[in-house]
Amino acid sequence: MARVKTTLVSWEDVVRWSRGLASKIKASGYMPDVIIAVARGGYVPARLVCDFLTINNLVSIQSQHWTEAAKAEERAIIKYPYKIDLSDSKALLVDDIVDTGESLLLAKNYIQKNWNPSEVRIAVLQWISSAAKFRPDYYFMEVKEWVWFQYPWTRLEDTYQFFKRILSEESKYGKVEWDFNGLVKKFVEWYELDVGEEYFKDAIGLLMEDGILRKENGKYVYLGSK
Ligand code: ADP
Repeated sequence: MARVKTTLVSWEDVVRWSRGLASKIKASGYMPDVIIAVARGGYVPARLVCDFLTINNLVSIQSQHWTEAAKAEERAIIKYPYKIDLSDSKALLVDDIVDTGESLLLAKNYIQKNWNPSEVRIAVLQWISSAAKFRPDYYFMEVKEWVWFQYPWTRLEDTYQFFKRILSEESKYGKVEWDFNGLVKKFVEWYELDVGEEYFKDAIGLLMEDGILRKENGKYVYLGSK
């Protein structure tokens, strides 16, 4: 698995970007009656946009990308389909990022068909214009070259995954025994990202819980990925 180019996003960035996104929405004159957070990445931005636009109505929908291994083709699904009545309401779908945009398009279609709002628009913090199938109605930042944004709400999940890649790759060259500092050093070297000691510890703890690492004589031993 290749090393991906990553950018660390801080909580302060998220607040600043959400505030900026809300100002753009306000300036356009669109005043949504209800905000729909696209789970999971849209939760924090959606809540902040509610705050900055003084909106009380917040609901959610989970749209998820999944890979069909056999077909090597990606599709998005609505994980928990349900119906609510949004007739005569203007809706705003909020997510963290439009990458391919597939999961958001699916969510928008689902809402238009099943929730019946008078209008739905899409707002995101970031829009990867080179990868996306469409341009969202509102975005705080256009990203021209694809990069993985390490948002604060996926810090542990990402750190765990990145460690897994490092461990798997390095084991091909016979490196299976690590100490804490060695793992952290490799992580920082690979991803040019420092998530802080607590996240490194938590991620290594999860790798042990999952039987991917085992502690032996003070060293972490890689047992292979599950
Ligand atoms: P899209 O349908 O917009 O391409 P995906 O279905 O690929 O989105 O991804 C869904 C979620 O995965 C996003 O809302 C975001 O939380 C996360 N994600 C996708 N691409 C990136 C990226 N480049 N950086 C960080 N997170 C991402």
